[in-house]
Amino acid sequence: MATDPNNKRNPNRPQIVSWNIPSKLEDYLPYPHAPSGVLIEGHANWRLEKPIVDCVACKNCGTCELLCPDAAIFYEEVASAKSAKSIAIDYELCKGCGICAFECKFNAIKMEKE
Ligand code: SF4
Ligand code: SF4
Repeated sequence: MATDPNNKRNPNRPQIVSWNIPSKLEDYLPYPHAPSGVLIEGHANWRLEKPIVDCVACKNCGTCELLCPDAAIFYEEVASAKSAKSIAIDYELCKGCGICAFECKFNAIKMEKE
């Protein structure tokens, strides 16, 4: 997956590549994709629920970050505690699939209606 090293908040975030509609049929890509074949665009605004992280219940195990299919989960620095990091969600990428909430062993993620 093409990542975006310039994104200071979430360097694991897939790079969003603009795609201009070509004028000639032969110039069309089959679909916009990264070299790995992963779609590199924000979610398509069809999310019905979004995950909310309970930072007190979260044990920072990293399972949700590992399993999110859209690389929407990342660690961010906690302003009040030096070198501490907590899970955060990039809602521009999250499609609301609920995998993170389902897989969290500590019930630290709840899905809430938009
Ligand atoms: S899976 Fe749950 S406990 Fe583990 S980092 Fe994610 S929210 Fe925290
Ligand atoms: S709901 Fe799905 S897309 Fe959104 S953060 Fe959780 S696993 Fe990732």
